[in-house]
Amino acid sequence: MLGPLLVPAAAHAAARPAGGGFAPGAAGIGDPYFPRAGNGGYDARHYDIELAYTPRGQHIRATSTMTATATADLSRFDLDLVGNTVASVKVNGAPAAFRRDGQELVITPRTGLRKGGTFTVAVAYSGSPKRLQDPNLGSTGWLPTGDGAAALSQPQGSTTWFPLNDHPSDKATFAYTVTVPEGLTVIANGEPAGTSRRGATSTFRWASARPMAGYLALLAIGRFDVLDGRTPGGVRSISAQDPKASGDLAGLQRTTGEVTDWEAGLFGPYPFDSTGGVVDDEKVGYALETQNRPAYPGGADTLLIVHELAHQWFGNSVGIRRWADIWLNEGFATYAEWLWTERHGGPSAAARFAETYARPADDPRWRIRPAAPGRDHLFDEFAVYQRGAMALQALRTRVGDPSFFATLRGWARRHRHGVATTAGFVAYAEQVSGRRLGGLFDDWLQRPAKPPLPAPGDQGR
Ligand SMILES: [Zn+2]
Repeated sequence: MLGPLLVPAAAHAAARPAGGGFAPGAAGIGDPYFPRAGNGGYDARHYDIELAYTPRGQHIRATSTMTATATADLSRFDLDLVGNTVASVKVNGAPAAFRRDGQELVITPRTGLRKGGTFTVAVAYSGSPKRLQDPNLGSTGWLPTGDGAAALSQPQGSTTWFPLNDHPSDKATFAYTVTVPEGLTVIANGEPAGTSRRGATSTFRWASARPMAGYLALLAIGRFDVLDGRTPGGVRSISAQDPKASGDLAGLQRTTGEVTDWEAGLFGPYPFDSTGGVVDDEKVGYALETQNRPAYPGGADTLLIVHELAHQWFGNSVGIRRWADIWLNEGFATYAEWLWTERHGGPSAAARFAETYARPADDPRWRIRPAAPGRDHLFDEFAVYQRGAMALQALRTRVGDPSFFATLRGWARRHRHGVATTAGFVAYAEQVSGRRLGGLFDDWLQRPAKPPLPAPGDQGR
């Protein structure tokens, strides 16, 4: 199509940058809740983030290189990046044209990228990354701490500190090389890959060989005590705590080990190469299931650890194809809390269900649909978390314990390191139980009303 034998490819392409069927990739991946999140035309495979941090002014200077596969013939494509100043962009090592448009970094390579081909894009940038405000969660993105910073990025905060295809349906492996003033420590996802010192700085490398959604990226910079050990069941466990935080790092590490192993017994083998947790003092009112090691701002109790580690199976390994399916993460993690309580001398999950079900039918929160909560109710504590967990208890009541627990394990196995949908879960639960469950799940996940009580063993509609 481009006649490379007759004309140097670059010269030819410069004359016809969008010719030969090459077209721009879309500015969004097609998620109605976040129309500009993610991008069309490629599949990110790996991010290599090199970042130097200066506490004064919360300044970063970075080069982030994405390796991706084109899924269409691309004349142009976008990355998601908010704030910062971009100094240069190179595609396959050659300088590329770029412009900014809101959260879109629009990149035009010298030559079109062929469908199926692998390419690299290296973005050099610097600035003071922003804090974003989510209507449900509060602050996300780059968050200053007493002695450094922490990046917590659900749902869109990663755009503040590195350019990416920012949607949960596109997972990639990660490598971080982070340089900080001597005395500070860097904690991230995956496992440590070496530390070096040069002058008054230290460089920390971390790498995750397991695929991860961009919103699960963790960077915590500050003074940390660190424990690197194993759970009783043998999973590597790395936990870190700001020495000024109240609480006990040894206790965090011990509970993390106990919970990781207990959940592996219920949900199947732990999906990643290490577990752990990070306690720092960023001022947010939530914890986050950052991959491998959740972030617990201000500290963690056992049920919070149960919740965030359950996400390593449900949310992180089994990801979601679109944000509307967030109950597949939050309903399951909440149900894990109910199971922990049931099996450790507390009220049964059935009792938790009954207590939650008592909410009057005319309460407007029953009108929020768990599997389509809307952008503004994405993290609604009742509709997404509690009613999502109730949907699982309703399933358990209908199909019985053996089928129910086989469904949880099989779901984690079937979509390990992938992404899934609500419709896929309904179909899978029907397959495992041999029952028709469409009516049950419609009532619990899709209808904007209080559902009827599930009947044990009922064949359903
Ligand atoms: Zn959660």
